[in-house]
Amino acid sequence: MDEFELISRYFKREQDYPNIPLAVGDDCAIASIPAGKQLVFSIDTLLPDVHFFSGSDANLIAERALRVSLSDLAAMGATPLCFTLALSLPEVNEEWLASFSEGLHRAAEIYSCPLVGGDTVRGPLCISIQVQGLVDEGKAICRSGAEVGDEIFVSGPMGDGAAALHMLQEGQQSAEDLEEDDLEYLFERYYRPEPQLSIGQALVGVASSAIDVSDGLVADLGHICRASDVGAVLNLGEIPYSVGLSVLAANVVETCQVPSTMVQDWILHGGDDYQLCFTVPKGKRSMLEERVEGLDVTITHIGELTEGAGVRSSSSAEPIIAKGYRHFTS
Ligand code: ADP
Ligand code: MG
Repeated sequence: MDEFELISRYFKREQDYPNIPLAVGDDCAIASIPAGKQLVFSIDTLLPDVHFFSGSDANLIAERALRVSLSDLAAMGATPLCFTLALSLPEVNEEWLASFSEGLHRAAEIYSCPLVGGDTVRGPLCISIQVQGLVDEGKAICRSGAEVGDEIFVSGPMGDGAAALHMLQEGQQSAEDLEEDDLEYLFERYYRPEPQLSIGQALVGVASSAIDVSDGLVADLGHICRASDVGAVLNLGEIPYSVGLSVLAANVVETCQVPSTMVQDWILHGGDDYQLCFTVPKGKRSMLEERVEGLDVTITHIGELTEGAGVRSSSSAEPIIAKGYRHFTS
C-alpha cells in the first residue's frame, strides 16, 4: 500500500462541517473563520514510551492523543474547529492503522472536531496533532490575566492520571483489592481524559486565567503565577480527589509499603489529569455559579492568589516545589 492509498483508506472521511469547505485530499485544507471570531491553535507531539505505552491499543493511543490536544483548546475557552495529523510510522501495519484511525475518528466525532489534513512519512513512530479552535475576538482565557485576590478553582478531581499510571507501571499487584468499577474509572481517566470544553467555554468573561492540568497541579498553577506575576496559596484539604484514587491509595500504602506522601504527590504533582485550573475575581463568584449551573461539572474552590511568587500551602510559609515531568532535565 502506498502513502496515498493509506491516507484515503484510514484518514479521509466523508464529513459535513459548516466551517470546513475543504478537508483531506488537496494541497491544503480550508476553514472558514466566522466574523468576530479568532483562531486559536496548538500542536502536541507524542512519542512512544514518553507520552504513551507503545504496546497500548492503537485506538486508545489515538483517542487519548486527540483528547489531550483538545484540552488545550478547553483551557483557552475555545470551541474545536478542526485538526491536522502528522504521522511518522516505521511500517504499514494495517491492523494498527485501522485501530488507530478508528479511535481518532471516534474522538473527532464526539468533540465535533474533524481531521482535515496532515502528513504521513516513514520513520520512527511519532504522532503530532495540531488542533484549531474558535473564540470570540479578544475573549480567549490566557494564563496572564490573574490578579492578587482572585480565587483558585479546579474543574474536577486531581491525581487520577498519576494513580492510573502507577498501576500501569507497577502492574496488577498494586491494584489487587480494587473493585472492578474503581479500576475501570481510573483507566478511563487515563486513556480517555475528558477535555473540559464546556466548562472552558462557560468561563469566558468570568475566569481571569486558566490552564489545563497536564504536568501536575502545582507545576501548572505555577505557570499561571509566573505569567500573571502573582503567588498562590492552596488549601490542601480542599483539593478534590476521586473514590478510585483513595481506594487505590489505601491499598498501595498498606500492601506495597509505599509512603503516604506518594499519594499526596499524585494529587499535587501528578500529570495527565486534564482538568482545568482557573482563577476568578471575587466579584464574579455568583456569575461563575450561574455559568456552571446545568453543566455536568463540579468545580471546587482550592485557594487564592496572593502577592509574591510561587505556590504554597495555607499551612506553611514555604513554597511547594513543583515535581511535574519535564523534558530535557536529566
Ligand atoms: P503534499 O505532498 O501536497 O503535501 P501529501 O501527499 O502530504 O500532500 O498529502 C496528501 C493529502 O492527504 C493532503 O490533503 C494532506 O493534508 C492529507 N494527509 C496526509 N497525511 C495525512 C494524515 N495522516 N491524516 C490526514 N490527512 C493526511
Ligand atoms: Mg506533504
